[in-house]
Amino acid sequence: MTDTALVTGASSGIGEAVVRAMRAEGMQVLAAARRMDRLQRLSAETGCIPLELDVRDRDAVSALAEHRVDILVNNAGMGRAMGTFTEATVDDIERQIDTNVTAALHVARAVLPGMIDRQKGHIVNIGSVAGLGAVPASIYGASKAAIHMFSRNLRLELHGTGVRVTEICPGRVTTEFYQVAFDDPAKRARASHTDGTELEPADIADGVLYAVTAPWRVNVSLLEIFPTEQTYGGAQFVRAKGK
Ligand code: NDP
Repeated sequence: MTDTALVTGASSGIGEAVVRAMRAEGMQVLAAARRMDRLQRLSAETGCIPLELDVRDRDAVSALAEHRVDILVNNAGMGRAMGTFTEATVDDIERQIDTNVTAALHVARAVLPGMIDRQKGHIVNIGSVAGLGAVPASIYGASKAAIHMFSRNLRLELHGTGVRVTEICPGRVTTEFYQVAFDDPAKRARASHTDGTELEPADIADGVLYAVTAPWRVNVSLLEIFPTEQTYGGAQFVRAKGK
């Protein structure tokens, strides 16, 4: 039987690329997001099944249990108040944690019982390198660090069920992420531009495909994928103001 995948955040960027890659492999794909016009276009092009879903809508997420889902790509996510924690609004914090963390947990919870019954399934969580190391994006990094430990812990809890858990941590990818992250046009323009060559969404889709098509004995636990021209870490000295 052909596997059915559910991809959240399928209307743009990484999610859209994952849908394209999976459809090219002949998988059935439920492509979920809020913007149905985009999903309809993607469906016309690829044959995916569009599914209108706000991952923050708990009832709609519970109803996902009615679908057979063999592979979940927990991808919907966003960043706000990046680099400016002290200026974050209540909504910036709540929307980000709810979308990136709480909703991802609820989506996984909705589809896992079916996977466990069938003794076969795969949860792919899209984390970030911002969840593995320090970045000046306090809320976003905290949300992705939560996804990192959720992935590791869930893999332990599901041991013996036949359900695989993979976390994919991209570095910088050219998507609409920074358009959503900043309202201020000047900040958006600054954040949208890097001097290096960024990853393409298809590069991350390649990683997802590698994990989900690996032989059953293989659980790809964590993939960290950076642009060649991006690194993190190191040590910096900055003279404190007023010293
Ligand atoms: P995009 O902004 O291009 O895509 C985000 C997707 O998430 C959209 O399809 C959007 O769909 C969906 N989404 C957001 N909120 C909701 C919601 N409440 N309900 C349903 N869908 C929602 O960004 P990316 O493709 O870059 O982001 C995908 C994932 O990759 C995110 O988890 C992000 O944190 C992660 N990531 C991105 C990196 C990058 O550099 N771009 C680096 C590391 C990780 P719609 O608005 O139609 O609902």
